[in-house]
Amino acid sequence: MAAGPIDTHCPYCSLQCGMTITARPESAGGGYAVAGANFPTNRGGLCEKGLSAAELLVHPDRLTTPLVRDHRDEPFRGATWDEALDRVAAGLTVAQERFGPDAAGLFGGGGLTNEKAYQAGKFVRVALRSASIDYNGRFCMSSAASASTRAFGIDRGMPFPLADVARADTVLLVGSNPADTMPPAMRWFAAGRERGARHLVVDPRYTATAAAADVHLQPVPGTDLALANGLLHLAIKLRLVDTAYVADRTTGWDAVRRAARQYWPDRVERITGVPVRVMERTVRMLAESRATMILSARGAEQHATGSDTALAWINLALALGLPGRPSSGWATLTGQGNGQGGREHGQKADQLPGYRMLADPAARAHVAGIWGVDPDELPRPGVSAYEMLDRLGTSGGVRALLVMASNVAVSAPRAAHVRERLAALDFLAVSDLFLSETAELADVVLPVTQWAEEEGTMTNLEGRVLRRRRAVAAPTGVRSDLQVLHDLAGRLGRGAFFSDDPRTVFDELRRASSGGKADYAGISYERIEAERGVFWPCPDDDHAGTPRLFTDRFATPDGRARFHVVHHRASAETPDAEYPYRLTTGRSRAHYQSGTQTRRTKTLLEAEPEPVVEIHPDLAARVGVADGGDLRLRTRRGTARMRVRLSREIRSDTVFAPFHWGGEQTVNDLTNPALDPASRMPEFKVCAVALEPTTTE
Ligand code: SF4
Repeated sequence: MAAGPIDTHCPYCSLQCGMTITARPESAGGGYAVAGANFPTNRGGLCEKGLSAAELLVHPDRLTTPLVRDHRDEPFRGATWDEALDRVAAGLTVAQERFGPDAAGLFGGGGLTNEKAYQAGKFVRVALRSASIDYNGRFCMSSAASASTRAFGIDRGMPFPLADVARADTVLLVGSNPADTMPPAMRWFAAGRERGARHLVVDPRYTATAAAADVHLQPVPGTDLALANGLLHLAIKLRLVDTAYVADRTTGWDAVRRAARQYWPDRVERITGVPVRVMERTVRMLAESRATMILSARGAEQHATGSDTALAWINLALALGLPGRPSSGWATLTGQGNGQGGREHGQKADQLPGYRMLADPAARAHVAGIWGVDPDELPRPGVSAYEMLDRLGTSGGVRALLVMASNVAVSAPRAAHVRERLAALDFLAVSDLFLSETAELADVVLPVTQWAEEEGTMTNLEGRVLRRRRAVAAPTGVRSDLQVLHDLAGRLGRGAFFSDDPRTVFDELRRASSGGKADYAGISYERIEAERGVFWPCPDDDHAGTPRLFTDRFATPDGRARFHVVHHRASAETPDAEYPYRLTTGRSRAHYQSGTQTRRTKTLLEAEPEPVVEIHPDLAARVGVADGGDLRLRTRRGTARMRVRLSREIRSDTVFAPFHWGGEQTVNDLTNPALDPASRMPEFKVCAVALEPTTTE
């Protein structure tokens, strides 16, 4: 395959840049070349991750044979697919026979195609008849999803196309650093700047995105909610509220207006560290512009108060009359490749396809009808991702687990504990491209296809459903996750309910989602091809798709958006004598997620061979470490060790470390699994840390 150029999409982030893959002649070294395609989001641009993605297609470490072992202290040996799948089916079945149906479960990923995510949810409910499924998107998008649903009645990360960013006159980014995480998206920001648009960034770090902005607000990590409420207080005081919009399009304003009284500017400055004059300038810029956007991301959302924090920014956007106005509104920038679609079709513990709720009798009846099962057969909602991981191998917890497209041994909070729980399982199977840190703990490892070797659909950060096309033949011995689920269902006596053909699965997904909030009924492979992506909701073949939501009404029963009273709460952990500083975590430019792919990509490893902890020179002097020195970071949950980079770009009470690395550089060994009560999002973004210089061996 791929003798000629074939268009597909990047394997990594939610921008889902279009790319063209071409086979290189042997005389030119063989392998494949990748180039940016003229897709609406990236217009030919790719970042270094996308540009180097072809290395994954010919990687020498690629798994091509199922691996099994009888005991975890033995090395793996190669096995046939029949033996490996028989073992997985037996592991799941034995756990259910001994401990009940919920003892077998699946942990999915936000990188799975829509078809796989849909099939994973169906597999657990129909083949296993278990409640035990959730996925790593719970760690990314759940707070924003919860807030958006409560305020607007629907969860689509961006309710408008990315290109609208270029038409906004003022853009406020909260806890988002697209200049590093999705550089091709910056073209839209830059186009706005060329028109004279003003940009503001809220971030404890002076990131590359902040450096390109007009205003940088640098709050104490975990205080964004207080900042948003403080800005709302000022908007009221300065008479900047759009009272006509509030009256016409919202409910709940009076209670929020009263609650905002307590966020007087001096108090908010004390909580957040943001000066009153900067807050005043910010709110005037937001209110006095023709078109204003507030764009949120994980920096604001990955907190035990994450969903309330997102609601606080939504309150501000509603008070200023932004959502639904041209080139205006609130949005959240999704991170994972299928972060949007992956959360729409049943991978979440409490949801069915089309954003239907598993606890809703009408939703159960609709989806059960499509699946050909009795609604009473469908299990009740299960527990969220961290709660599932925390109880692995315990009485009442999952005893046999299949992990797909996720490396929780590195990416989960309190990861050392999660590795202990994985080791306590009666049975663990992992499907992946490489022997990830999670796969290393497994009883069975299933080698599966990757992005350019398969057909399917992804839904990008805008809610645009797009085609992932097969450009390259998969290596011999590798199967797709869809085929794995189909083959396992057959061994569990439910094979007739499952297809391994992506198009067939997508057509079923369309019917299952029909009438739901994320309605794909009118979206076909052919339409995606012809229209270069289709925005959901798209309820029938004649519907044009919905690039912009909320122009006339919100997706609530009365069409009005909801204000919510939300109050600042301190982070679950604050600095004390033993752990005197704050740790915040995030992504770096060259790597992605748990690094399973990017740490194996030569180009990216050369660009960024190891993680560094960013520390302000003043703090470095206090703890006694120099640039390039070695630092041990210690929290109540574990330690990690990495090299120091002095940086004036971060607050002097906070250090930053990227989470892409394993071994003794696993930053998530440190992070706090305190959960948001509404979204069950862990508090990745802030915890208390002790810093201890060490010597390099
Ligand atoms: Fe891939 Fe995201 Fe980079 Fe685009 S911005 S090339 S989708 S990693």
